[in-house]
Amino acid sequence: MNPDRYRKQILFQPIGSEGQQRLASARVAIIGCGALGSSIAETLTRAGVGYLRIIDRDFVDLSNLQRQHLFTEADVASHQPKAIAASQRLQEINSEVTIEPHVTDVHSGNIASLVHSCDLIMDGTDNFETRFLINDIALETSTPWISGGVIAARGQVFTIVPQQTACLRCLLDGEPPQTETCDTSGVIGPAVNIIASLQCTRALQWITSAGSHIDRRMTIIDAWEGSFQQVDLTSLWQNRDCPACTGSERLWLSGKRGSQSTALCGRNAVQIAPADRRTIDLAAQAEQWKPLGQISLNPFLLWLQPQESPDHEIHLFRDGRAIIKGTEDLALARTLYNRYVPS
Ligand SMILES: [Zn+2]
Repeated sequence: MNPDRYRKQILFQPIGSEGQQRLASARVAIIGCGALGSSIAETLTRAGVGYLRIIDRDFVDLSNLQRQHLFTEADVASHQPKAIAASQRLQEINSEVTIEPHVTDVHSGNIASLVHSCDLIMDGTDNFETRFLINDIALETSTPWISGGVIAARGQVFTIVPQQTACLRCLLDGEPPQTETCDTSGVIGPAVNIIASLQCTRALQWITSAGSHIDRRMTIIDAWEGSFQQVDLTSLWQNRDCPACTGSERLWLSGKRGSQSTALCGRNAVQIAPADRRTIDLAAQAEQWKPLGQISLNPFLLWLQPQESPDHEIHLFRDGRAIIKGTEDLALARTLYNRYVPS
């Protein structure tokens, strides 16, 4: 580690040389590398966190560039998976950091291996289903996680340290009804950056203090109004009656809750994930698809714009998942999947 790179950060008294060493030894998983995740990944890479595992299921879309750090028009043109595009850019920013990208969706069957050997999980997701799954694995493995969420110009951050703070289920019994999404209300870059920065500040505090600095408040912001609000969650923890952290219920980790098909927020796209996970030979599939329309292949996914359905695009990943662009109708997306992807 070249200390000159981190000189200004080491000069900051609460971090110092010892804190910098702790950052260099830290292992962090970032789940979701969209707006929040890419901003978090960049900040932690520049800060010198030694190891980052970046997990994302999606590819870079033109509508992402308004707010998602790290991505470029070239990534859009080549249908780059976000985890791969982000990793390449991050490695250019700081070659001392070990970056491990994973192009996959997170589900109950793989989350244990995806967070294995990480000291901290950063929430870069855009949906409650994945957050509840993270909450379950965090409680199960005693791994802290820092939750963040943004919609329009508003957002909130809170820290979950198993058996030391309230967990997500202390706060919410289940996935709240989606009365508002970034599809209906949009989202602005500055709000995302504020929330990602607050999450990263908490990560730096947790890592450099060796786990002794825990912020037990939920921070709620409205970037447009310029308002900050702090809600102390200590009493929620003290009076908890939570099936997940006082009991040991793991509804999402056990697979009792969760779905195989999901509309991707703000994307006019649906992900279809087959129950039987399998590896697809994308090059062979490309040969099959050639007569059917326009195709494009990179090492991680195969893209098809079918002649007979030109308003839709199919992005097929090696693990058998597909993201169908051009619809939010789950049934239509499943029909297209079954028509084009061999079972
Ligand atoms: Zn709880």
